Amino acid sequence: MTSDHDQTLNEVHKQHMKQQQAAHRNRMKQKKKTDRGLLLVHTGHGKGKSTAAFGTVARALGWGWKVGIVQFIKGKWKTGEKQFFSRFDEQVTLRIMGEGFTWDTQNREQDIRAAHAAWSVGVEMMTSGAYQLVVLDELNIVLRYNYLPHDEVIAALLNRHPLCNVIATGRDAPATLLAAADQVTEMKNIKHPFEAGIKPVRGIDF
Ligand code: ATP
Ligand code: MG
Repeated sequence: MTSDHDQTLNEVHKQHMKQQQAAHRNRMKQKKKTDRGLLLVHTGHGKGKSTAAFGTVARALGWGWKVGIVQFIKGKWKTGEKQFFSRFDEQVTLRIMGEGFTWDTQNREQDIRAAHAAWSVGVEMMTSGAYQLVVLDELNIVLRYNYLPHDEVIAALLNRHPLCNVIATGRDAPATLLAAADQVTEMKNIKHPFEAGIKPVRGIDF
């Protein structure tokens, strides 16, 4: 049996939720559906930038979208995302264009060539009109090292096909990219197993 006290709490809760619903409906009324694709940036030093991008890819695939993914840094090694997206070869084009981590390649000129090759694949995807979502994984890193001219990159992002959504990931996204973006999310590191001496984990980190 509900006590008088609980009944009062329930009634107060209901009134409070009614007010929230009215406020939410009112806010939604003032918003409009977008008629263009958005530019999303995932940056910061915490884990989850690429992970969140791949989560969005899952949503996009669910709606039957075509998705392009360019990986700027990751080399040819086996990753969970690569194995998974290969099951969707009609919907997903995954281009792994990196030569590996910059500290492994140790070759600036080779990295710059790889960045340019990856970028032209990304531009092709963004302008073709075939892809509703394009993920430029670790583009921010490539910009941070100045492997690509910032103004050209920003211009191409802004001149993409109007219906193409883009996610750019990577630490230290430059201010010019933040300014051009519709959404910027900063992943903040609170704790990471790496700091406790744990190696990257299959299925979680790659
Ligand atoms: P993920 O690809 O796992 O979503 P991310 O895109 O946020 O991570 P990156 O900068 O691309 O982060 O890092 C790639 C690798 O570095 C991943 O294995 C990730 O777990 C690890 N990493 C991310 N953040 C940290 C951190 N704060 N300390 C140590 N390692 C990290
Ligand atoms: Mg990443």
